[in-house]
Amino acid sequence: MNRTLSRLTVMAATAAACAMSSVAQANPQLVDASLADPTRQYMPSELIVQFKPGLRLDKAQQAMRGLGLSSLKTLRSMARGAHAELHLVKLPANFKVPEAIQWLRAHDAIDFAEPNWIVSTQAAPADPYYTNGSLWGYYGDTSPTQQNQYGSQAGEAFDAGKKCKKGVVIGVIDEGVMNTHPDTKAGIWQNPVEIAGNGIDDDGNGYVDDVNGWDFRNNDKTTFDGTTDDHGTHVSGTIGARANKQGIIGVCPTVKMISAKFLEGSGTTANAILAVDYVTDLKQRHDLNLVATNNSWGGGGFSQGLKDAIDRAGAADILFVAAAGNSGLNTDVSPNYPSGYTSANIIAVASITSSGSLSGFSNYGATSVDIGAPGSSIWSTVPTSTGAGYANYSGTSMATPHVTGAAAFYASRHPGQTAAQIKAAILAAAVPTPSLAGKCVTGGRLDVSGF
Ligand code: CA
Repeated sequence: MNRTLSRLTVMAATAAACAMSSVAQANPQLVDASLADPTRQYMPSELIVQFKPGLRLDKAQQAMRGLGLSSLKTLRSMARGAHAELHLVKLPANFKVPEAIQWLRAHDAIDFAEPNWIVSTQAAPADPYYTNGSLWGYYGDTSPTQQNQYGSQAGEAFDAGKKCKKGVVIGVIDEGVMNTHPDTKAGIWQNPVEIAGNGIDDDGNGYVDDVNGWDFRNNDKTTFDGTTDDHGTHVSGTIGARANKQGIIGVCPTVKMISAKFLEGSGTTANAILAVDYVTDLKQRHDLNLVATNNSWGGGGFSQGLKDAIDRAGAADILFVAAAGNSGLNTDVSPNYPSGYTSANIIAVASITSSGSLSGFSNYGATSVDIGAPGSSIWSTVPTSTGAGYANYSGTSMATPHVTGAAAFYASRHPGQTAAQIKAAILAAAVPTPSLAGKCVTGGRLDVSGF
């Protein structure tokens, strides 16, 4: 151990001399700013490391051995078409993450090194006495049976005959999605190529028997593991619960949803990168009309590795709809990730209440948040100890799937639109709202009635 420690120290010292001539790391100052904030948590003895573009795996492994590092997981591989090796690595015992990052940055084999941040779901506690049936986030101001001007207006569009059409796919990057819930089971995506249970990676994407998606948290094909998957099931209901005369209805009740599970309450940046890339690859591999992923999670600090994955999704015309976060902060000043990355395909979503206020827990930001949507006291689907049920949750986690559903809704009615066009349409339709004025890019709330 001591030998490894000193060797790493010496190597860092010699490498420092040539650091000036190496390619600059993309955003080391943002990683450092995140590390300086003690509220941002990371895995204590892990790092995400990208090797220099073009440096082959055997050379990367050689460099890791020389530095006393071992690869825990391959996140991106040149053998599978990536431009650089990206690995989750284990640090030698007693090595601290911030100092290891400083040393590794100076090594000429390394493009960037950053913490494996811990992220979490963005649901806040809800009032258990809220009256069931008040699906206010779905309502519009002229819906026949129930009205709420601050709802997403999906109900108003539905009643006017503007219905979500079939054929759109969404990625739910979250906890698992309950695949037997009567309100969402028809919305669970089926891999068109993968044959269930044959033990073969039929579609060649690196994941065996990924029939409904993949569980990156437990590294298996089972995307639903029980009542711990309540948050993922809740957001899926808001996006796409069926119009089936029971329970609730989602913003786009004909959508299909891929479960890319990497959370059980919390998760890590490394698994988030795998989940984002998995959905992007599925779109391209199976030529899916996949227009967005829902990302009701956040926390941790800046990750170049995750931002790069979001940018790859953007290049594949996939919107990344992200929760603004639940700290009640101005994220122009205190950045929230992933909603705060500058990637053009992100829509960052704040939460409003049924009376049009900014929810007390909701982050906001004139430049870092795009739009408000219903997020306080939202009824949706959950697994219970006795089967399928419904529950009332609050959070920017709940606001985000209203916007993701809106992206699916718009895409279904306007085929062939790019991610940029869908985003522009959603933001242009926002209704100016006093509580959001100066608090987000649009200064307004979601309104799908014109889609
Ligand atoms: Ca597969």
